[in-house]
Amino acid sequence: MSMESAKARKFDGGVHPHDMKSLSSSKAVQTVPLLEKYNVSLAQNIGAPPRPIVKKGDLVRKYQQIAEPGGFVSAPIHSPTSGSVADISEIPGPFGVPCPCVVIAADGKDEALSPFSPMNWESEEPDKLKERIGQAGIVGMGGAAFPTLVKLSPPPDKKIDTLILNGAECEPYLTADHRLMLENPDAIMTGALILAKVLGVKRIFVGIEQNKPDAIEKLSALSGKYGIGVSGLRVMYPQGAEKQLIYALTGRKVPAGALPMDVGCVVQNVATAAAVKEAVCDGIPLVERITTVTGGPIKNPGNWRFRIGTPVAKAIELAGGVSSDPLKIILGGPMMGVSIYSLDVTVAKNGSGILLMGASEISQYISDPCIRCGKCIDVCPMSLMAGPISVMVESERFDLAEAEHAMDCIECGTCAFACPAKRPLVQHLKRAKFEINALRRKKR
Ligand code: SF4
Ligand code: SF4
Repeated sequence: MSMESAKARKFDGGVHPHDMKSLSSSKAVQTVPLLEKYNVSLAQNIGAPPRPIVKKGDLVRKYQQIAEPGGFVSAPIHSPTSGSVADISEIPGPFGVPCPCVVIAADGKDEALSPFSPMNWESEEPDKLKERIGQAGIVGMGGAAFPTLVKLSPPPDKKIDTLILNGAECEPYLTADHRLMLENPDAIMTGALILAKVLGVKRIFVGIEQNKPDAIEKLSALSGKYGIGVSGLRVMYPQGAEKQLIYALTGRKVPAGALPMDVGCVVQNVATAAAVKEAVCDGIPLVERITTVTGGPIKNPGNWRFRIGTPVAKAIELAGGVSSDPLKIILGGPMMGVSIYSLDVTVAKNGSGILLMGASEISQYISDPCIRCGKCIDVCPMSLMAGPISVMVESERFDLAEAEHAMDCIECGTCAFACPAKRPLVQHLKRAKFEINALRRKKR
């Protein structure tokens, strides 16, 4: 491996929200007792939802596959424990729409059926490693939930020369990746080498925001052993967005409408890399992850290793419960996370955080008309005109919004954070993208 160290550059725009990470950053990852029941959602990846391959009453073992991919852009799902299939039903999804789930009633034995044998990644063919990553149901664990197998299968005309591991964790409050980097750095680095072998690349960087100096130190100490460059990144939201990360580490700009592979890069989250190591070297599919449970109302903010299918209510209880009533419960962080309406939503493969916000952490307001201050434009990392696009959306001129490149919005929330009129800019940008996609489908 070539181990150049990347000099991190500053991307355009960005903001400095209070990071609030000290609530949980010093808390070591804890494991939790086995639950009596897991509601394993089948909506755990971008793309086609997986299809259940078990039925009510079936006995299952831990790690046994319970759902198969519903298409190429999809990922299998495995049981988080042993027991029986109590039901195939629906649970509330994070977006308020019910999603199908397999209910596993635990038998308390937690007996594993390892569907795969451990591999020696160094002697294994890249195609076999890739196949295993697909079989293990690995998806992007930083939030995107894009099936990793698909990201590792660029078209033949796209020449990939750089793998970037995303350890930025720029969302305020979240510390799950930080703890993973401190507590299991070798798994991340080994996972990176496996990913690099599959992609056929020699150049690997890990990018970490400089507000995690201990993680930078930890991974830098392994840099020579693994031949992986480790770079401290400027603390600036959204430093962990793919295009901004690629620019910071390589100086390459991903053009509007293009993908990282168009500039020779593949980006994977550090937790995804660790899951790849477990799948390949230990034969373990993705059935658990580290999640930060935090926010003012939480009695004992920290980081927990939850199995998929753990209800949010149970996760909060395991974190000691609440000392005051939350006004908002968010899956993920405050900038890009999703406000949820039911505590029956469950921890999924991409569940990096459960954030409870109390009255002192939320500003309640009525949005005002745009005062044309231009702040949203100054801070947008994609150089979009969020304010004007928002006005176009209000007047339903989606054709104009498309001409203003609304589809390039990465929904980072930076514009809304900066807007003095508290305009619902992200909601408007999301609506613009939805309507533009609908218009494009109609034209086909
Ligand atoms: S920041 Fe808000 S008020 Fe200022 S131009 Fe943008 S939308 Fe308008
Ligand atoms: S949400 Fe979209 S428009 Fe707003 S700052 Fe982020 S990329 Fe720009």
